[in-house]
Amino acid sequence: MKILAVNAGSSSMKFQLFEMPEEKVLVSSTFERIGLDKSFYSIKVNDEKTKKEAVLLNHEDAVRLFLKDLLDNKIINDLNEISCVGHRIVHGADKYNKSVLIDDEVISDIEKCIPLAPLHNPAGILGIRAIKEALPKAQNVAIFDTAFHQSMEDVAYLYPVPYEWYTNYGVRRYGFHGTSHQYISNRISSILGTDKFKAIICHLGNGASITAVENGKCVETSMGITPVAGIPMGTRCGDIDPSIVEYVMRTSGKTIDEVMTDLNKKSGLLGVSGVSSDSRDIEEAIASGNTRAFLAHNIYIRKITSFIASYYCILGGADVIAFTAGIGENSIDTRKDIMNALKPLGVVIDEEANKVRSVERLISDKDSKIKCYIIPTNEELMMAREAYELSK
Ligand code: ADP
Repeated sequence: MKILAVNAGSSSMKFQLFEMPEEKVLVSSTFERIGLDKSFYSIKVNDEKTKKEAVLLNHEDAVRLFLKDLLDNKIINDLNEISCVGHRIVHGADKYNKSVLIDDEVISDIEKCIPLAPLHNPAGILGIRAIKEALPKAQNVAIFDTAFHQSMEDVAYLYPVPYEWYTNYGVRRYGFHGTSHQYISNRISSILGTDKFKAIICHLGNGASITAVENGKCVETSMGITPVAGIPMGTRCGDIDPSIVEYVMRTSGKTIDEVMTDLNKKSGLLGVSGVSSDSRDIEEAIASGNTRAFLAHNIYIRKITSFIASYYCILGGADVIAFTAGIGENSIDTRKDIMNALKPLGVVIDEEANKVRSVERLISDKDSKIKCYIIPTNEELMMAREAYELSK
């Protein structure tokens, strides 16, 4: 059975076509600059990647072109072979604690969540509509970034603000990257050979979040009502004193939108270093003696360490700490600095084992009280699995 995983952004669309249940990737493709000039896409079949220019006025154009390429390359002979499509949806608020088959009610619920995810949820709906038009016979499944975190209890998801903000406006912690955290949690369970475990999962990409998991269920997560909260990220600030917003507005004359753009797009590693949001550039700048890049890295490490230490106490210990996503899988120095900062918890790094990128591996010493792993994430595969299960 062929299952398509679709991740629609406001100006991009990513596709991966799987043969299920074998979990074989038949093709992966990314469309960029949709609705802008100089749009292009890349398509990878059998490890061979080609990049092409194309006019992409909207998401429908991207879907049409992708499906045409599938037919032209004889990856499929008929569009009806794609029986189910899994769509990544960023915000499902507290209505969805698992993936669901998409019907009109689900679409309307995703629309209702737009105020909580004004950039992401409209893109998700555009993706669903474009696929429904091009593949009218396929089933569609929504896979929510927020779903995995719905197992959190009120002590974890409520903010210490007036309770009416929660009941009247839905102000609470939702958490994101749920598909990745779920995938890693499942991998940890397979590695340990049990579903009874306590783990702290560090998804360190451009966006980044840390989750405390007990027996496969999320107990705490660092992102909040939106993805700007938690640890510092490539360009997002993470947790800060909320009065900073008001103070900067009053002193600089910036509007609320300008300040929020600064906190979302000009903060984090980029904001402190003044160099880049990309951890590779930060590492290079540190090597050449840039002190602000070094400071940005140190703030990053300190905040991550304090989240892990706090989750260690909330969980009452931890069997596993897992590193995943771009930085977690690839940055040897970031993992090393975090693990060394966690010595008080009994973490001991295996320096040689840590010198790898993007492979699943134990990187803590045999004497370490917590096992630390690199576990590459695979959100698209998780989506395909969810879609496959529901389509059965
Ligand atoms: P997202 O999916 O949130 O856009 P990714 O998970 O792709 O982000 O992670 C992007 C981050 O991973 C960037 O900061 C990038 O610098 C970092 N990264 C990728 N490869 C390496 C590497 N070899 N060394 C250090 N950092 C890396």
